[in-house]
Amino acid sequence: LIENLGGKVAIITGASSGIGEATAKSLADEGVAVVLAARRKDELESLADQIRANGGDALVSPTDVTSDADIQELVDRTVDEFGQVDILVNNAGVMLLEEVQDADTENFQQMVDVNLSGLMKLTHAVLPTMQDHGAGHIVNISSVAGRKSFPGSSAYSATKFGVNGFSEGLRQEVTGEDDIRVTLIEPGYVNTELAEHIPDEERKQQTKEALETMESLTSKDIARSITYAVGQPKHVDVNELLIRPTHQE
Ligand code: NDP
Repeated sequence: LIENLGGKVAIITGASSGIGEATAKSLADEGVAVVLAARRKDELESLADQIRANGGDALVSPTDVTSDADIQELVDRTVDEFGQVDILVNNAGVMLLEEVQDADTENFQQMVDVNLSGLMKLTHAVLPTMQDHGAGHIVNISSVAGRKSFPGSSAYSATKFGVNGFSEGLRQEVTGEDDIRVTLIEPGYVNTELAEHIPDEERKQQTKEALETMESLTSKDIARSITYAVGQPKHVDVNELLIRPTHQE
């Protein structure tokens, strides 16, 4: 189903939990050297230990994607250590659901900074190394909320609609002589820590209930889709994958 990914190098943001962590494990299992980026260093170190114990190669690079300096350091360290970046998984994200009228505008700012600006700036920082190498794959994690908006998800959806717009424009920009691919992943309900940070208590409970009542997706389900997309032959660009639990409306 997939090509040999051995020897490739991937940066994964938000690797300290959930989808990012599962993606790092899945890519490492395929022989990809993984660079683990997020703020929680201890979680990254323990994931790197697990990957190494299984024979994989992992580098920890504590990163806050809202910091320009951290973004540059992440790319520089990766290139210093491995010489290239073949795959970038822009996965770091926060989902601070609340209705616009009740919202703390700092939460708007945080979602824009992490989900959208961080993703755009890291892409901007990584692209030159991919262009030098003549190949690369950028995987952007959007959401069902990047296609539809709901009460309480206005600002979160604004960032994810932004990710979709950015990804399609980028795809058209880089399509040309280089083998640079762009893939958009749009998960439905995935059982992770994401809902823990929802500021509106009622909405937090509703989201957790929805996650528990239906058979929601696991991080591994999404990691498998990402691994499938990056594992296709270089003339195949899986542009978009929308993945819902079977019982999600
Ligand atoms: P988690 O909360 O488990 O993971 C979020 C990750 O983002 C963490 O590793 C966190 O690490 C990281 N992160 C948050 N802020 C920053 C920051 N400023 N700098 C660097 N990293 C940061 O949730 P998921 O795994 O579910 O989320 C991953 C992605 O999937 C997100 O983009 C989310 O929007 C998307 N998604 C999730 C869905 C779901 O139902 N769970 C559905 C659709 C999309 P740390 O705190 O250590 O920095």
